[in-house]
Amino acid sequence: MKGGKEISGIVTGIKKFLGKTKPIISYQNPFKVLIATVLSARTRDANTAKAAKSLFSEYNNPKKLANARTKDIEKLIRVSGFYKTKAKRIKELSNVLIMNFGGKVPDNLEDLVSLPGVGRKTANCVLCYAFNIPAIAVDTHVHRISNRLGLVKTKIPEETEKSLLETLTKRYWLDINELMVKFGQKMCLPRSPKCGKCPINSYCDYYENIYLPEKGGA
Ligand code: SF4
Repeated sequence: MKGGKEISGIVTGIKKFLGKTKPIISYQNPFKVLIATVLSARTRDANTAKAAKSLFSEYNNPKKLANARTKDIEKLIRVSGFYKTKAKRIKELSNVLIMNFGGKVPDNLEDLVSLPGVGRKTANCVLCYAFNIPAIAVDTHVHRISNRLGLVKTKIPEETEKSLLETLTKRYWLDINELMVKFGQKMCLPRSPKCGKCPINSYCDYYENIYLPEKGGA
């Protein structure tokens, strides 16, 4: 298990590598963060941004979306993957927000995961990005990179979240999703991680146990 010094080295190394970047979710309004996160599932960032922008240009609050026709929502978010399912879900979600929460997005995990189609990853994203409440949203990048580095040894994202909450001190929680998502898109790629050039390879279990032996370097 990595200690505080190594974790600090990992976070500093990733930050230095990424430099100044645009935020993944540029909205502050909790409803928009929630919907944008739903739209982002299995969709590239650029397409998520396009879909969110066109959707919010017509329907920018739960009431308008709850009253919208599913077909009209579909048209606006077509660029997002699985847009038909998402359109239905977004409408349903808006209805439940109005019925159960007075049209306001709740700011706690329990209520957020009670919303249709909202799992822990989406709920944690909303806590971090909309409410600035420390939480760890584990998507495929966070799960993969945490395991490769040896921060956790887990099989599924839920276990990764639990393990990271124990391993990382709270001051890292807000940033870790954004850092690992971007690092996973640029360096620690799903299929061919660029380990030879990686700025944090000295902290990485995968580098030591898989990359170097394959290269004949260990
Ligand atoms: S050394 Fe390779 S596997 Fe480890 S974090 Fe860097 S890119 Fe990912």
